[in-house]
Amino acid sequence: MTRSPLLALFLKRRNFVALLIAVNLMTVGLLATAFSAPDNSRQVNVYSYRQPFLVEPLFDAFTAETGIQVKVIFAKKGLIERAKAEGATSPADLILTVDIARLSEAAKTLAQPVRSAVLDSVIPAEARGQDGRWFGLSWRARIAYASNTRVSETTLRYEDLADPKWKGRICLRSGQHPYNNALFAAMLAHLGEPGFRDWLSGLKANLSEKPSGNDRAQVRRVYGGTCDVAIGNTYYMGKMQTNEKKPEQKQWAASVTPIFPAMPNGGTHVNVSGMVLAKHAPNKANGIKLMEFLVSKPAQKIYAETNFEYPIRADVPVSPLVASWGHLTPDTLAMDQIAANRKRASAIVDETAFNDGQ
Ligand code: FE
Repeated sequence: MTRSPLLALFLKRRNFVALLIAVNLMTVGLLATAFSAPDNSRQVNVYSYRQPFLVEPLFDAFTAETGIQVKVIFAKKGLIERAKAEGATSPADLILTVDIARLSEAAKTLAQPVRSAVLDSVIPAEARGQDGRWFGLSWRARIAYASNTRVSETTLRYEDLADPKWKGRICLRSGQHPYNNALFAAMLAHLGEPGFRDWLSGLKANLSEKPSGNDRAQVRRVYGGTCDVAIGNTYYMGKMQTNEKKPEQKQWAASVTPIFPAMPNGGTHVNVSGMVLAKHAPNKANGIKLMEFLVSKPAQKIYAETNFEYPIRADVPVSPLVASWGHLTPDTLAMDQIAANRKRASAIVDETAFNDGQ
């Protein structure tokens, strides 16, 4: 039988499309299997932006204690959008994520309020939504990584970073990245808009180059000598100090001293990892049980020891490595206030062309 090349192509395409549809159906089927338990009351479903190495030990401990199975979908992005798109049929009970930007987005669009005496008593008020729609699980601080050889200061205020004595000596990633956006939103809350604008212009004038790269890339710049103070999140110190796959990062870490800068009230800017209970959670009671478990002392210890984070509970100690970086006094500004200031801070970053550098 002979076929015209066009028909052959069509048939090939049709087969390909059929294959795609089959693969999609299989994926949906697999997911349905993953999430449908014979007895729903023994299961809880989690959409997790947090990585398996951190949350799997937590879920295993939860299952061992309660007999409730935890089914998880892991992804780096798109989970909030996915739960929104699924609407009332979403299998998600709990969403685990990092950063006040994502938490407040999830809280606004797909969370339901939770009233829990456990959550309210162990999580500080500033680390949970006042409407009960999001809850913090761990802190990360945004600190200064100061060159061991070119910086003699042992303490800093964030306001100092705008002082002309640091001209050309500071490096940080994009002013629009959620980590800096939260820091700037906090500064806006503390300084007021005119004060914040002055500070941001001063900081811009002190940049060694146009903001680019991630947090670790800034520490590499200090190591390489192109800037003297980098701004970055605390857990990257741990990731660099223990990096066996990229041992050069140990050298970057060894070239800097962490300094915990102070806001005008004396605290260091912190961001959170956290959780929300989904609006349509099919296993709501189990979801709340898991939320309460995640702030228990054993679970908080896992947060402290697995990912160089600070437990949200003040009565759980940090890991010895994290403790070696210095003492963290978190800023007590409500994260809700930071969330509310994010948009304005972002607009001012654009208006001042912060990302163009000095
Ligand atoms: Fe990070």
